Amino acid sequence: MKLAKRVEELPPYLFAQISKVIAAKKAQGIDVVTFGIGDPDLPTPPHILAALHRAADDPANHRYPESEGLPRLRQAIADWYERRFEVAFDAEREALALIGSKEGIAHMALTLIDPGDVALVTDPGYPVYEIGTMFAGGVAVKLPLTRENGWLPDLDAIPEDLAARARVLWLNYPNNPTAAVADLAFFEKAVAWAREYDVSICHDNPYCDVAFDGYRPLSIFQAPGAREVAIEFNSFSKIYNMTGWRIGMAVGNAELVDALMRVKSNIDSGIPQAIQEMAIEAVNGPQGVIADHNAIYQRRRDRIVETLRAIGLDADPPKASLYVWAKLPDGVTSGDFAARLIEECAVVVTPGRGYGVNGEGYVRLSVTIADDRMEEGLRRLRDWGGLGGA
Ligand SMILES: *Cc1c(COP(=O)(O)O)cnc(C)c1O
Repeated sequence: MKLAKRVEELPPYLFAQISKVIAAKKAQGIDVVTFGIGDPDLPTPPHILAALHRAADDPANHRYPESEGLPRLRQAIADWYERRFEVAFDAEREALALIGSKEGIAHMALTLIDPGDVALVTDPGYPVYEIGTMFAGGVAVKLPLTRENGWLPDLDAIPEDLAARARVLWLNYPNNPTAAVADLAFFEKAVAWAREYDVSICHDNPYCDVAFDGYRPLSIFQAPGAREVAIEFNSFSKIYNMTGWRIGMAVGNAELVDALMRVKSNIDSGIPQAIQEMAIEAVNGPQGVIADHNAIYQRRRDRIVETLRAIGLDADPPKASLYVWAKLPDGVTSGDFAARLIEECAVVVTPGRGYGVNGEGYVRLSVTIADDRMEEGLRRLRDWGGLGGA
């Protein structure tokens, strides 16, 4: 059988490899503690589940859903953006429901990229921006993120000819995997740059309400003029503990939203309507759950940072996201470190190298791990003692 190049050239999905190692350990009867995947361990709040239960019994929800999302859901998304960020969107033209934001992100490339076109993505970065580009036949050019530049791309360093060729710039703040955040000045600069070079911006914002110490992440649409160039992906997954239900959203420039909708309407047939009802309840229902979740994550964040520092890693408590991004001692590679932790204490962390070459020298730990499992994992790390003590 001859498979398409886009399949043959596909790197193994980062977490698929890790899952395999975990499975092998478990098969040997070893109790593995994983700080690997960012997937809320807490259940979906009961009032959101109640909306699903009600909607499941209504035969109107047993038929094909509307591709672009129920008008009530799109309105709920627009209203949420207005309450949360004080930006108004026309629900019909500027808001769209997605089968999880990952789906929209991957399909977005088909709306902007012709074969050979350039997409600018960050390194390190969430892998889907690059893979989506590759699926569309485009070329992903990496913008380096480093600790020195605050894990923000240096837009002034992008050569003129590259800027002129680029069709899209992918951004993600609060950032996965680095947990970096962007301020309004950065978004204003990105919007000005994109308008100058006629580049679209796709901003991925699934952690906009996963934040600590009173910090409030921004939407790119708080930067004036963003609506002329940008689309923002957002999600119910991380904010409302709904990763398993697969529902997300995109808002922004009407032409970009319409293009994505037209691509999607030829591929999928929308989101099960009972799940759309959950999303409506999530944004319109009681919002206290967000602070409750964040308080739990913040406490875990502090426990993890404390332990990492004790074993010789350099980690700052993040302002937002579900991750602690920790620097390893010089000369230690993230793959070797992660492999040693699995071997020597059956603890899983994600090697930063999996997110790009600039992720080398770092590991990512997720706070989405039950407290007792986290404490067990941290105890093992302290007993292990770090590279110096090993
Ligand atoms: C988790 C995550 C997503 C995917 O969210 P879904 O809505 O569940 O598909 C997208 N982007 C980033 C950066 C993420 O970390």
